[in-house]
Amino acid sequence: MFLHVEPYAGDPILSLNEAFGKDPRTNKINLSIGIYFDDAGKIPMLPSVRAAELKVVAEAGARPYLPMEGAANFRTAVQHLLFGAEHAALQAGRVVTIQTVGSSGGLKVGADFIKRYFPNTTILVSDPTWDNHRAVFEGSNLTVETYPYYDADTGGLRFDAMLAALSKAEKHSVVLLHACCHNPTGVDLNNEQWQQLLPVLQERELIPFLDLAYQGYGAGIQEDAYAVRLFADSGISFFVANSFSKSMSLYGERCGALSVVCPDAAQAVNVLGQLKANIRRNYSNPPMHGGQLVARVLTDPELRAQWEAEVSAMRLRIQAMRRQLHAVLSAKLPGRDFSYFLTQHGMFSYTGLNPAQCDRLKEEFGVYILRSGRMCVAGLNTSNVEATANAMAAVLA
Ligand code: PMP
Repeated sequence: MFLHVEPYAGDPILSLNEAFGKDPRTNKINLSIGIYFDDAGKIPMLPSVRAAELKVVAEAGARPYLPMEGAANFRTAVQHLLFGAEHAALQAGRVVTIQTVGSSGGLKVGADFIKRYFPNTTILVSDPTWDNHRAVFEGSNLTVETYPYYDADTGGLRFDAMLAALSKAEKHSVVLLHACCHNPTGVDLNNEQWQQLLPVLQERELIPFLDLAYQGYGAGIQEDAYAVRLFADSGISFFVANSFSKSMSLYGERCGALSVVCPDAAQAVNVLGQLKANIRRNYSNPPMHGGQLVARVLTDPELRAQWEAEVSAMRLRIQAMRRQLHAVLSAKLPGRDFSYFLTQHGMFSYTGLNPAQCDRLKEEFGVYILRSGRMCVAGLNTSNVEATANAMAAVLA
């Protein structure tokens, strides 16, 4: 019956993470998967989220189905977080937000919507991007192409080439943009570059799809929403998928959202209706618990302040690890420029290591990074950063 079913090659990131789990070496270092670990090498339970959970559980009663679009308090809290509570687009009823199964779920529901209403459009993703972007959009039978992004020579951004490519894109192409903390490179647009990109998107009538999976890990919670607010201010229509996996350390609770900013409230009603229809025929409605933790943290003033401080601490810890990595490597390999470790943002860094060097790192030193050279800097800590830098210096020498 199933002889024609071909084997699944597995997801490269999850497979490497599993290989790490099976590695018997006690000094192994996991810098593969995109997860924030604390200085003790543990996935943190944020105290603000824990406090919210105790309150939510204490009040918990019956467990009805949520509406297809998710819990109203969660959806409103997400809108305020992304756009600012007073944003004119919210007041005009132009923004619809649904609670999704992680931001992966938001990307998928968005992809299905795009396939239905822009069936022949192309999705343009950065070169490179998170592998699953391609998988999600191709899984919705959309064509995925790339625009220039990462500059391997400088470890920076090919901004002019990016603008040039987008200014030739077909009308209504969807442009997937990482709002901050680009995965896998750590290379972001600065605010001036976002401002320069906007008119190109408008002129070509392109449809931005922002992916905001690392809010707070770049420059700050508000700062990392810069592109979302800039686009919303401009009147352009766009999608934004956002996640609480990293910012609240709630990976397994699958808390995310998809927002669509529409030209007017009447169109927004219909867009929301079709997003709901998509959810109904896929999984009916999202789960309840995690979203209620998020809503509580975002709306309780004390917990909110506590969470913002916790996110800052995570961001600053990663920056400190970047500086230490940079210092050791610069000392060991003088004359080489490792400044990209300092200028890249967020959890990831493109190290510039080639696949053979990555393999050596794993096999000889037990240091796991992706074969693309992507390192999860958030897996570094005061106990392993030195060993990591030494191993990198050895394979780079
Ligand atoms: N977008 C990007 C760029 C990511 O790196 C990730 C997680 N690795 C996601 C989306 C999905 O995150 P989640 O589904 O956990 O919200």
